[in-house]
Amino acid sequence: MKKIEPRNQISVLVKLKTIVREMFPVAAKRFPFFFPLEALKMLCDILMPFIALFVSPMIIDELIGGRRLRTLFVYAFILILGEALLSVIKEIVSNRLNMYQERLSNFFYMRISEHSMNLDFQLTEDKDALDQLEKANTGMDWYSGGVYGIAEQLFMFMGNAIKIGGFVTVIALHTPILILVILGGVLLNGLFYYKSNQVEVEAFSRSAHSNRMFEYFGWELTDFRYGKDIRLYDASDMLLNKWDGFADRQMSVWMWRAGKQCKYSLGIVLISVIITAFNCFYAALMAIKGVFSLGTFTQIVEAAGGLNNLLQGIIGNVTELIKRSNYAYEYCIFMNYPIALPKGNREVAPGLHKIEFRNVCFSYPGSDSKVLSGVNLTIEKGERVSLVGLNGAGKTTLVKLLCRLYDPTEGTILLDGIDIREYNYDEYIKVFSPVFQDFMLFAFSVNENIAIKEGNELDDLEKERIVQLVRQTGLEDILEKFPQGLESILFKYFDENGVEPSGGEQQKIALARALYKDAPVVILDEPTSALDPIAEYEIYKHFNELIDKKTALYISHRLSSCRFCNHIAVFSDGRIAEYGTHDELMKIANGIYAKMFEAQAQYYR
Ligand code: ADP
Repeated sequence: MKKIEPRNQISVLVKLKTIVREMFPVAAKRFPFFFPLEALKMLCDILMPFIALFVSPMIIDELIGGRRLRTLFVYAFILILGEALLSVIKEIVSNRLNMYQERLSNFFYMRISEHSMNLDFQLTEDKDALDQLEKANTGMDWYSGGVYGIAEQLFMFMGNAIKIGGFVTVIALHTPILILVILGGVLLNGLFYYKSNQVEVEAFSRSAHSNRMFEYFGWELTDFRYGKDIRLYDASDMLLNKWDGFADRQMSVWMWRAGKQCKYSLGIVLISVIITAFNCFYAALMAIKGVFSLGTFTQIVEAAGGLNNLLQGIIGNVTELIKRSNYAYEYCIFMNYPIALPKGNREVAPGLHKIEFRNVCFSYPGSDSKVLSGVNLTIEKGERVSLVGLNGAGKTTLVKLLCRLYDPTEGTILLDGIDIREYNYDEYIKVFSPVFQDFMLFAFSVNENIAIKEGNELDDLEKERIVQLVRQTGLEDILEKFPQGLESILFKYFDENGVEPSGGEQQKIALARALYKDAPVVILDEPTSALDPIAEYEIYKHFNELIDKKTALYISHRLSSCRFCNHIAVFSDGRIAEYGTHDELMKIANGIYAKMFEAQAQYYR
């Protein structure tokens, strides 16, 4: 991975170079006609003003002088036809280019999404990483216009630079003094533009956090799955008040920006007016004195006015490029966000696996409190181990460490005797079929949720396997209720006929998904909490048979799951307080397990 410099330590030029290096080739590969079309548009832009600049004075001088009708006709023909032709070409090209705006921005948003889905999991809970994601998204948005916006400004800059060269030559041939005046004004305006942009970039940085909050309140909380809790706990007032608070904070940033930028905008307008007036008076004076012919007077006024506009334009291009590069650079930072977990390249051996936790300690990033302290646990090949303990004891955290969502702060986890950090990450995570408490199903069809593959790509064998799993996990009865069986779409995001499975039904779909993955180590982290105890017992029993010889880790509050396990590890305050078989643990006087078992058993007796 190339090194990406922090935003505050490099010049805009380096940022622009990074953007061009990182984003342009990808865009050119995906949309090969985009850059050639931009170049063609630039060429039309360059040629157009020169036709008028050279042909108009010739027409005026011919009108005052020779008055040859044929010559006048030829000049007029060149002027009208030339401009018309270039306008038509430019219009067609611009039209085609407009289509690329949407396509390029969609393409880069997809790359951001793809990258955020592949980011190390712990970064998804990291405030800085989330802010950076927000900055990358908004930075690519209307703030910079992404590749489209930057390429447009770059081509305009090149076009304007070439035109300026031509206009300066024309004016310098007649009267160099005007160039000095125009340049002076332009430099002053450049300073105003620069200051104004600095304010804008600062405002962007200040509002990243509140933008993310806006997204949370505007999008996330309007998700109807929050609906029940919001209504029954009467949370809407609290949420709206919080939203108002963030809106106020954001508004104060925009007010600050507007106040600061106002004086610079006024300065720019004033200087432009003064310079245009000076040019006209000076050229008119020279014409009255007879220094310039009427044609030359027109040419100078036109060139000076044009040059003034071009110089303003090029300053606009430069300041826009500075602004846009600053924003789009956030995309480069995000796409090169430092990895949180080191990854090796060892291959994982096929077959069953032995897992060992050696003196594993862990604190969540940004927190000092130890969630796990000195955990030692060995899980032999094909063994079933149950992790039990009170809420917050650290069971899920242990499983997250095993799945490499985080790395231990101290100690090591070994798979087949090798530190799991040494394995190729993609290979390593294929070892596990976990079902977490907070698993998520997608708003796609049931079979897509189980196979994690597009429905139309599933072959007959795969479909057959899904059907078999559906039968085995007890989903069959449920699917009979769904109008289109396995093809039924979950939830109502995309389909108003989408089905709303109950918590228990969702858990069964998640279990089928885990079985479908067919990984050698299965982890169930309380995925059955929404089921009644009998159904839970049945599921575990059945599940245990289905996974055959695989290694399994079960976390459940209901100790029924322990009946299928070779060993039970009882967690308390981040440690394994008791370890053994059911019978061994029941014999510990005043033991945590024995007490938990007794407390639960009385409900079932
Ligand atoms: P258990 O599975 O035994 O109920 P967990 O492993 O989920 O316990 O949690 C152990 C402790 O770690 C709890 O105190 C919990 O608040 C804390 N914790 C869990 N997830 C996070 C997180 N992402 N960031 C910070 N603390 C966390």
